[in-house]
Amino acid sequence: MRNKSLILEARDIRLAVELIELGARLQLLEAETKLSRERLLKLYKEVRGESPPKGMLPFSTDWFMTWQPNIHASLFMAYYRFFERHTKLRGLELIIKAYRMYLEQVERGQMERVLSLTRAWTMVRFFEARMLQMATCKECGGEFVAHAYDPTKGYVCGLCHMPARAGKTRKAIEAAAAGA
Ligand SMILES: [Zn+2]
Repeated sequence: MRNKSLILEARDIRLAVELIELGARLQLLEAETKLSRERLLKLYKEVRGESPPKGMLPFSTDWFMTWQPNIHASLFMAYYRFFERHTKLRGLELIIKAYRMYLEQVERGQMERVLSLTRAWTMVRFFEARMLQMATCKECGGEFVAHAYDPTKGYVCGLCHMPARAGKTRKAIEAAAAGA
């Protein structure tokens, strides 16, 4: 019994460190591990050399609908759904895998890291709560994050309807889509 709890604790510490390195907020760590808040605060300071930011998690689905966040959120979801279909990864492991792929793509495309791990994690919960859905763009055929209650017929994505100065993002997304 004692051994088992030690093993679980070691697992939680490894997981917490990985999540903190990826930029997770305290609320995510509290939800996904059994470690105490005090313990997590200490780990956070050890890993990042500073205290975690205070404040609530973003609760609204609206952030995912604005132009640049939507592209990044959709890129993450493309990876998420791919690994959901083709691997046995589930839950947090699946989120971490998809997020690492997203980060690689962002680095390759020299883009800004718009989607944080905490946002990605929150988004998956929005999908599970059926507050979000994927919509297929009628122009490019790509799949994008949309509100669950919006009609998806005739949907046109942010890349097909793009602000003039976003060419770099587009190129990187297209490269990602071709590679996936
Ligand atoms: Zn499109």
